[in-house]
Amino acid sequence: MIHLILFGPPGAGKGTQAAFLIQRYDLKHLSTGDIFRANIKNETPLGLSAKSYIDRGQLVPDSVTIDMLKDEVERHPYGHGFVYDGFPRTKAQAEALDAFLAGREERVAAMVALEVPQEELKYRLLDRAKSSGRSDDADPEVINKRLEVYSSETLPVLQHYNAMGRYIGINGIGSIHEVTERLTTALDPILA
Ligand code: AMP
Repeated sequence: MIHLILFGPPGAGKGTQAAFLIQRYDLKHLSTGDIFRANIKNETPLGLSAKSYIDRGQLVPDSVTIDMLKDEVERHPYGHGFVYDGFPRTKAQAEALDAFLAGREERVAAMVALEVPQEELKYRLLDRAKSSGRSDDADPEVINKRLEVYSSETLPVLQHYNAMGRYIGINGIGSIHEVTERLTTALDPILA
């Protein structure tokens, strides 16, 4: 199975590009943020515990997130593979994913990272809030917190896969189509 990590800060365009990647490479989209939001909507115990973290722009604890991700992967044993969007977000999550995949004699194929400057991200998130209905996009303080958490807790994940030779940086500025083209150029030789 293919395990592709789509990485980048909040607002980099991961969700948008994931929609393209799942089509092109016949993969399943696995967004931890989407799973949390579905649980919040359905008022499940997982949703109730995740909500307080998400509303404050903090990360949901690793223990909860890692188990949830593994369950989701195991629920789809017959597909072609996955695009991970918003996971892993901490070094512990990356190490847990690597160990989980090693247990299946599999590994992360690549980590593609969408790179977008901070000021552009803030603008994009506030703009997205108009249509996403996400309260964590509408509040500048929560946005700042999410970007801060990205720098302190999530960036080490990039270094982790870079050290393993699996990191591919992609310029995330430009039209959706331009970014898609860059992803295709980088990933076709590996996945197609
Ligand atoms: P996203 O939709 O990826 O922007 O995620 C929205 C929020 O869900 C984040 O700000 C976190 O609070 C939470 N979240 C999503 N993915 C993770 C993860 N891998 N680890 C911890 N928290 C997460």
